[in-house]
Amino acid sequence: MHLVYLTSCSYSGSTLLTLLLNTHPQIATVGELKANINSKQSQILCSCGQNLHHCAFWTTIIKRTQRLGADIQADRLGTQFGYPESKLFQLVCHAKVRSRWFENMRRFALSREPFAKTFTQVLMRNRLLIETIADHKGGTHFLDSSKDVVRLMYFLQSKYWQISVIRMVRDGRGTMNSFQKHFPSLSPRKIARMWTGVDRQFENLVRLFPEMRTITVRYEDLVDDVASQLKRIALFLNLSPNFSELDFPTGHIFGNDMRLKRIESIRLDESWRQQLSPSALQIFEQIAGPTNRKLGYD
Ligand SMILES: [Zn+2]
Repeated sequence: MHLVYLTSCSYSGSTLLTLLLNTHPQIATVGELKANINSKQSQILCSCGQNLHHCAFWTTIIKRTQRLGADIQADRLGTQFGYPESKLFQLVCHAKVRSRWFENMRRFALSREPFAKTFTQVLMRNRLLIETIADHKGGTHFLDSSKDVVRLMYFLQSKYWQISVIRMVRDGRGTMNSFQKHFPSLSPRKIARMWTGVDRQFENLVRLFPEMRTITVRYEDLVDDVASQLKRIALFLNLSPNFSELDFPTGHIFGNDMRLKRIESIRLDESWRQQLSPSALQIFEQIAGPTNRKLGYD
């Protein structure tokens, strides 16, 4: 099984890319497999419009994994690392990717009880779901669009799969604007720090796994020429560029709300140019300007 992992900051176009990649006959995906059940209700709604109890696809998948002995339920897939009941475990599991020294310490902690058993169970649920969903579609590649860099590190450490990484980036000012629209209480400073934090974590991961196979996809390039970017990704994954037209309903995808809407045409969202205030832009420049330029945005 070939695992494709899509990593990015939120609001960088990863749901759009997931919907597009899902049109390939060899790529099986449910979007964000981590399926954060603590997030708002619409995010645990399948993109078919049903919740997991009523979606025919998920009912089949969950039954099949249960037959294989997995403890997977419609209201708790249990695919996210961590354990809400233990603050310490949450802290250890979710701390950002750092130095090799730090990661060795974390690995040691997670290999000891009381963490080891729960951690291994989460990994096994992911493994069973990935295999079952790929088998259901008949695909050779499974795409997990969970975005989270720490989760990607756990998958790399497990050595269960051959992993190819799609790193999606977007002009940080566009991401900041989307965050402000969805979470008006978040300060520009906090958003800019979060955004650079994702980039820093990814750089740390590359240092830990220099052999990791990665392709970078820019949101702006994708919406500018969907076909050529999909062709580029297919080549990277050793697949023929055999994509179908994006059509709705789009299958059974977890991600942000855009997966529930019809896309009439894929257009570049550059509303940040009009909507970000001068002070927000100034704060962004102070905190994230160098990172944004490093990613090719002037
Ligand atoms: Zn569904």
